[in-house]
Amino acid sequence: MKRHPSLVIILLALIGLGLSAALSRGLYLEENQVIISEFRADVTQLASAFEREVVLNLEILFAVKNAAAILPEMNADLFDRLTARVLERAPAIGAFAWAPVVPQENRNEFVQQQQSWYPGFALSGVYDEVATTPVEHVPWLVPVQFIQPIAANRQAVGFDLASEKKRRAALLRARDTGQMIATAAIELVQDQTEEKGLLVFTPLYRGDSATTPEDRVARHQGFLNGVFRVEELVNQSINVAIDRNILIQIVDRTEGGEDVIYSTGRSSDSHWLRKLAYEVPLDPVAGRHWVVQAMPSEAFVSARRGYLPALVIGFGFSFIALLVFFAVRSLRQNAQLNAAKRELETISLTDALTGLANRRHFDLYLEQEWARARRQRQTIAMVMLDIDNFKAFNDEYGHPAGDQCLREVARALERVVRRPTDLVARYGGEEFALILPNTQDALAVAEACRLVIQRLGIVNEFSDVAPLITISAGVCSLVPTPEMPPDLLIQQADEALYEAKETGRNKVVSAVPTLQED
Ligand code: GH3
Ligand code: MG
Ligand code: MG
Repeated sequence: MKRHPSLVIILLALIGLGLSAALSRGLYLEENQVIISEFRADVTQLASAFEREVVLNLEILFAVKNAAAILPEMNADLFDRLTARVLERAPAIGAFAWAPVVPQENRNEFVQQQQSWYPGFALSGVYDEVATTPVEHVPWLVPVQFIQPIAANRQAVGFDLASEKKRRAALLRARDTGQMIATAAIELVQDQTEEKGLLVFTPLYRGDSATTPEDRVARHQGFLNGVFRVEELVNQSINVAIDRNILIQIVDRTEGGEDVIYSTGRSSDSHWLRKLAYEVPLDPVAGRHWVVQAMPSEAFVSARRGYLPALVIGFGFSFIALLVFFAVRSLRQNAQLNAAKRELETISLTDALTGLANRRHFDLYLEQEWARARRQRQTIAMVMLDIDNFKAFNDEYGHPAGDQCLREVARALERVVRRPTDLVARYGGEEFALILPNTQDALAVAEACRLVIQRLGIVNEFSDVAPLITISAGVCSLVPTPEMPPDLLIQQADEALYEAKETGRNKVVSAVPTLQED
């Protein structure tokens, strides 16, 4: 890990990005859940308001029927008085109709009586799906006798309700059960609009209320019908306009299929979110099983969405980007710092004039190699070299020439000493030192150095040895033991060098024999 800090940064950044994305997604889903449950609550409320409105209108119909039932005889005038006011107050009821049961044998008598009230009165119906006058073999008819409001519904007068399939099914059920029964949604005879309506039949019986189906059939005399407008029921039940971003449909499932009896829009439109569709079944009303279905649109959901998930992801990503930026910057600074440090180290371990290892480097290296040689019981050798009569060279040719000479001597020594473990150091002034770990023939190395420098041919006229720059060298080679002081090697090499100087210069003296004598 320490070796790959950039890898760590990438890993941490990825984890950070992952976490903020996960958090944002979590919030998004949470928000979705809230929006969905709000939507469902809205739909549920809407459905129950609609259901209440339907029940209320059924109650009105029931009340009108009860009032009609106590009258001995019904006529047009009475029917108008009974229903006109109610219609004004119940906009969802489009019309009331009075339809008695007329057996075939009473048919002509019924028509004549009606014509006396309504000149031009005629029976009509849709027998076998075709609009005709009533057929002879029908045992009984249920023609509309009175209807209110008459102006808009004149067409319906005389229409045999039992002639049409949907109406017939409903009226038979109403007769046999004594209950209010609604038809499936139908296009109203009296209506030119697209609006669907329901006919709700309430059966009327002679005498007291009938109790058994047979009794009901025997005493059945007709129906009071209410024409219920589905759209108006919805409008009445929902005070405020329905959100345009919700599609509301009322579906009749009584017959098993899906009969859409009311819809606020086209369900096939693509902007409705089908997967969020929700439905609330209503309690059976007037024998019908209705379901309120709803779907929100894209706009409904997005209008309710907050900014938090986007903020979280935005801030998360920017924060991580910032962290990465600073981490990368500090890494780079670190790298620069390390480089500077390394440079400083080499400066402080290197002799500025010659580029050789300096005295500090020499000391450190000697300590390290001394310890290693002692551990491994190996030879370590040192050669101390000193330029002969260098003071005179300096005095004669000047200090810069002296410096140049030192550099050339340094390069020459480096050429001789080539093993990677060997170290050539400037020991100080015009003195050099070689550390040669694990070396048996240090004397030969020293001799090679002496020859190489002599061959440089740097003129030193005032040398008392030769008219050239020469060196003297002292060599010491030993296997360190724990008893030996670490500077023994320097001391012995230095003594050998001293001896070389004393005995004529431009020569190599080894300290080994001296050691062995000790
Ligand atoms: P010996 O043969 O006994 O070594 O005689 P020597 O003259 O070489 O020795 P001495 O110690 O008397 O003089 C050393 C001279 O080296 C003194 C100084 O002028 C010269 N020297 C030391 N360091 C430098 C340096 O960095 N540059 C130059 N140009 N000369 C230096
Ligand atoms: Mg000297
Ligand atoms: Mg000297």
